[in-house]
Amino acid sequence: MISLNEIKDILSNDDPAFLEMLAQNARSLTEQYFGRTVTLYAPIYISNYCSSHCTYCGFHNHHKIKRFKLSLDQIKQEMQFIASKKIRNILILTGESYEAAPVSYIKEAVLIAQKYFSGISLEIHPLNEAEYLELFLAGADGLTIYQETFDRIRYQQVHLAGRKKDYDFRFHAPERAAQAGFRQISIGALLGLSELAPDLLALYEYLQHMEKNFPGVEYSVSFPRLRPIKGENFSVCDINDLTFVKIICLTRTLFPRVGINLSTRETAFLRDHLVGTGITRISAGSNTAVGGYTVCTEEEASPQFDVNDDRSVDEIINMLKSKNFDPVFTDWRSIKNESI
Ligand code: SF4
Repeated sequence: MISLNEIKDILSNDDPAFLEMLAQNARSLTEQYFGRTVTLYAPIYISNYCSSHCTYCGFHNHHKIKRFKLSLDQIKQEMQFIASKKIRNILILTGESYEAAPVSYIKEAVLIAQKYFSGISLEIHPLNEAEYLELFLAGADGLTIYQETFDRIRYQQVHLAGRKKDYDFRFHAPERAAQAGFRQISIGALLGLSELAPDLLALYEYLQHMEKNFPGVEYSVSFPRLRPIKGENFSVCDINDLTFVKIICLTRTLFPRVGINLSTRETAFLRDHLVGTGITRISAGSNTAVGGYTVCTEEEASPQFDVNDDRSVDEIINMLKSKNFDPVFTDWRSIKNESI
């Protein structure tokens, strides 16, 4: 495994010849293992209730935002809308409230999703293995969970209350999900929340640990960048675009077969340029507010983060085709999805 000093050297090396070599290597590995395919997905936020207090998040329990969760009919309506845009991979998200979004509620959402989507992933509060199993058996096949930071001290400083304070319960969640049968697991760190190089090293070591212990799972990583909330900046280091690109290239070099996701937090310009340089999965036509697609107006919505790439699914498809990439809507289908 790469050392901490090697990561630091790469992050601080701005020599154009070195950067070109890093990018070329990432491009050729991406093409070797993923061809010219990019998988598309869309998020659906079904509840923004949260009983945790993470200082850096717009959903935390001290924030006075409009809280609500979708009824089952509203979930169906939102999913029908997303499916009408050709999307077949859905990411179901909730805030971290075990009371407002219990397993039974998430399970109902998964059962509805079964009618419209072939890939159903969850980004929800960490669960125990039996609960993951229940959702897996209902049809969820992917789990996204970010440790935010692997620095325990920093973790305690920014997670002030709620279940999320428990570092270890979150840390071991991917293992419990893998044990329960989840086919696809996505992990990551919130860039800017803590010192970058140690967090990257910890993430890489964790990924290596998962690959070794659960080799049947398909892994991907995400690198969301911390954004200011209401003008307040919680970053301890600035992750500029050049650093971000280096992180993608380095990750691809170290883990040639691992998927790398990129959400609409990032600008259209950056997303377009990173496709093929490591990124293999992008969100499209996203709305990050509960009910944001069809249920509430833009004024009523409280998104978790501002979308920086608001292009429609068709516009993303056209962008990919113009660069000679194939947009992939379905790369997996369970026998329960026969009607899709
Ligand atoms: S990051 Fe998650 S747990 Fe923390 S406040 Fe936001 S929604 Fe709640």
